Amino acid sequence: MKQVSALDVANLQLEKALERMDLDENTKNQLRKTEKVLTVSIPVKMDNGQVNVFTGFRAQYNTARGPAKGGVRYHPQVCFDEVKALAAWMTWKCAVVDLPYGGGKGGIICNPKELSEGELERLSRRFIYEISSIIGPNKDIPAPDVYTNPKVMGWYIDTYNMLNGEAAFACITGKPVDLWGSKGRVEATASGVVQTVLLSLNYLDIIAEDATVVIQGFGNAGSYIAKFLHDKGLRIIGVSDSKGGVYNSNGLDPIALNQHKKETGTVNTYKRNGTEKITNDDLLKLECDILVPAALEEVINGSNAKDVKAKIIAEAANGPTTPEADEILKEKGIFVIPDILANAGGVVVSYFEWVQNLNGYFWSEEKVHLRLKARMEKAFNEVLHIAQKEETDNRTAAYICAVNKVAQAMKFRGIWP
Ligand code: GLU
Repeated sequence: MKQVSALDVANLQLEKALERMDLDENTKNQLRKTEKVLTVSIPVKMDNGQVNVFTGFRAQYNTARGPAKGGVRYHPQVCFDEVKALAAWMTWKCAVVDLPYGGGKGGIICNPKELSEGELERLSRRFIYEISSIIGPNKDIPAPDVYTNPKVMGWYIDTYNMLNGEAAFACITGKPVDLWGSKGRVEATASGVVQTVLLSLNYLDIIAEDATVVIQGFGNAGSYIAKFLHDKGLRIIGVSDSKGGVYNSNGLDPIALNQHKKETGTVNTYKRNGTEKITNDDLLKLECDILVPAALEEVINGSNAKDVKAKIIAEAANGPTTPEADEILKEKGIFVIPDILANAGGVVVSYFEWVQNLNGYFWSEEKVHLRLKARMEKAFNEVLHIAQKEETDNRTAAYICAVNKVAQAMKFRGIWP
């Protein structure tokens, strides 16, 4: 198996699309580059009086179509190149669903599970201070990602407002609803994934009530995906988190699993109705209709892709499949709903939140949901259409769709000065 980084994956995916596109070399070269990455040191007074200096990043990959948009990840393995890859994916994702944004991403190297609430708050506030010169409602709009949530976004917006002497809210999305977050934002990534899964089932003539689902990752996205698909009558037969997974061919109850995870910190010890333990590795190889990687990058790779038995892979995570695996999945005829399409629901509702904040006028949950659904469906059909026309895989089709829009914006802007 070839070892590749997230950035290699993002670059290879882009190259594969560029090969098929009629763009001049200058434009291609620009599309390959990250516009800006700010690396910051974040000193935090820990509860024991010691000062720990954390490292954080904010990357802006391409802003031709609008301000950078994307979450901030708190994880021990975040690095400079990873945030660049994630910012690139945000650029293509925002373009696929036609949002007036470029792509950005942030990260702090830390283990949030080992930080107290006070330490987490001081870390979050100082990070926003450190990147304050490059963020703003028309510059770059942070949001939640892995291990960040509405509470953290509350600290972010307060810090931003204190620094600027403002009481405005459009600089950060994914805020608590009581602090002008959007209704439906918390479940939005999952809603979007579910929407694309249902469209795929329909396209492939698979009856939803007969379909089985395996979900790798049981965080915000994974747990809501399990619930929503279960509500639609699909059978969830396997789920996992970072500590391991569980399997039950008769179906798992997502509500009970969620409760168990809240109480014990993992789904791995859930035992009800003959449920068995399973490793994350074996989980990915389970016989099922839909496999949903909903955690981190590169879990489906050259070493396990040949053993994947799902008919559909719905990428709730960013970058879960390597290019080497993509080739194998294509040969096996597996229908991949690529991350930049499948998981775009989160940023779509972030956009709705930004629009509501700029207007000071708020929408009902129903309106948010209907507009999200319409946008996902439009993007899904567009990508499928390109895949058929170009006789290529869904990921390359999604890239062609996105890269074309970004290239057009760059063409009309020209280069300053
Ligand atoms: N972190 C999410 C993503 O990867 C959401 C980003 C946003 O809402 O700006 O798409």
